[in-house]
Amino acid sequence: MDEDAGRAGSGAPGDPRFAIIGAGMAGILSAVKLQEAGLTDFTVYEKADRVGGTWRANTYPGLSCDVPSHLYSYSFAPRADWSHRYAPGGEIHGYFEGVAREHAIDRHIRFGDEVTSCRFADGVWHLETAAGHRDEVDVVIAATGVLHHPKVPEIEGLDDFEGTMFHSSRWNHEVRLDGKRVGIVGTGSTAVQMVSALVGRVGQLSLFQRTAQWVLQAENPPYTDDERAAFRQNTARLGELRAQLTQLFDVFANAIVDAESPEMQMVAEACRANLEDNVRDPELRERLRPDYQAACKRLIMSPDFYEAIQQPNAELVTEAIERIEAAGIRTRDGRLHEFDVLVLATGFKADAFMRPMGVIGRDGQALEQVWAARPNAYLSISIPDFPNFFMLNGPNGPVGNFSLIEVAELQFAYIMQLVDRLRAGECREISASQEAMEQHEAARVEAVENTVWVTGCRSWYLDDRGIPAVWPWSFDRFRAEMQAPKPAAFEYR
Ligand code: NAP
Repeated sequence: MDEDAGRAGSGAPGDPRFAIIGAGMAGILSAVKLQEAGLTDFTVYEKADRVGGTWRANTYPGLSCDVPSHLYSYSFAPRADWSHRYAPGGEIHGYFEGVAREHAIDRHIRFGDEVTSCRFADGVWHLETAAGHRDEVDVVIAATGVLHHPKVPEIEGLDDFEGTMFHSSRWNHEVRLDGKRVGIVGTGSTAVQMVSALVGRVGQLSLFQRTAQWVLQAENPPYTDDERAAFRQNTARLGELRAQLTQLFDVFANAIVDAESPEMQMVAEACRANLEDNVRDPELRERLRPDYQAACKRLIMSPDFYEAIQQPNAELVTEAIERIEAAGIRTRDGRLHEFDVLVLATGFKADAFMRPMGVIGRDGQALEQVWAARPNAYLSISIPDFPNFFMLNGPNGPVGNFSLIEVAELQFAYIMQLVDRLRAGECREISASQEAMEQHEAARVEAVENTVWVTGCRSWYLDDRGIPAVWPWSFDRFRAEMQAPKPAAFEYR
């Protein structure tokens, strides 16, 4: 790309220069919205060679988003043509590429260039990339995603396996799976989608379950040609559908933050009915039955997981893994499960955020130190003494079973109100005050006590103390909070 792409079409004199880190859902959103505001002096840094973030990285068979596509899309870019209620991952990736293309943001993107460090000095952020490129910007928007860095499990002998092994987010498409013996470790959303997609193709599929999951049956009908035509002809219908879905997800969002609520009981009942009604063998049913409350771990949605795991060539292995050997997995009962391909659907390092990028704030403070105990930020957006550095989908935000697109859109609009103060010349540096962050965090930690996430299970929501690192209030409260920054919560210089 053009070396000077970031400077191309610079905004008005005095307007800030921005760096957006990451060209996934939130990075594309930021670029579109900056352009819309007439702020064209920005560069998007993307370490990969395509846009799409998680939808670029994850290409495993069965990948889809369990938020309906008419909700999991930008409010400013509704799409009439979604193929299914829950569209497949490739289609979602295509959607993000399409939005990026339509808004011509490619010319602002430095592909294949990873930001390795961001240092605040003399009132500006100094960026350095792996390729040795340097940049100076007034505002940094970290749109680096939530679940990004694969978590490779600590299982003895992992390197001894002589077949093909990879993490679910690093799918090796060179490997033929048809007729092969495939092992999958993990029973999160990823593994469940994969089991349904693979069982009809592979010779033998073994799913290694450490913890059983509650599964909500979510049918995934295709949209008919007539339905899609109707959406195209009457875009108001798209808006209505989105409003209905928002309402439905709001009910769920309210339920999970109140473990005792009738709505939560309804979700639990629906999961129980799915298990009872759809797993025929009582012994298998009991092995699939979790011993904790539904939605304590992130709820799994699937139209057909139970059907898939009951296929004759599928096996649910609940015996603990002892070690991995050249030929496969040895379980604690001494049995060797032999495979050609082993997939680690073992999740992500949920507390990494933009790290390992080095971020140095005011007076040489390193983010690594500030976050030594665990990541924190005021409203997931701003870190004290890291001025003009804003995160989308940062720590402790609303990440449970709803559209992260709406979250990012709300956060971006909030950030722009802070940026407007910089543009108006009211100040040169803005970051949350330590006091505001601490008060918010204290209230948050108190509120998580009412949520379903603390009802007795292990999940990636929990931090090192066992406290959910999640927004613990209703989604409406989040919307209200995002309406406007509270002036007293920020420090201005
Ligand atoms: P995950 O939910 O963190 O699940 C990881 C799985 O690996 C768990 O079953 C875990 O068992 C197991 N595991 C980890 N280490 C293990 C070990 N040493 N031995 C045996 N088992 C081990 O990861 P994920 O399925 O990739 O999903 C992560 C998140 O991505 C989801 O929660 C969701 O937010 C998002 N996601 C969303 C969609 C969607 O449709 N929107 C699809 C895929 C993923 P334990 O349960 O015992 O810890």
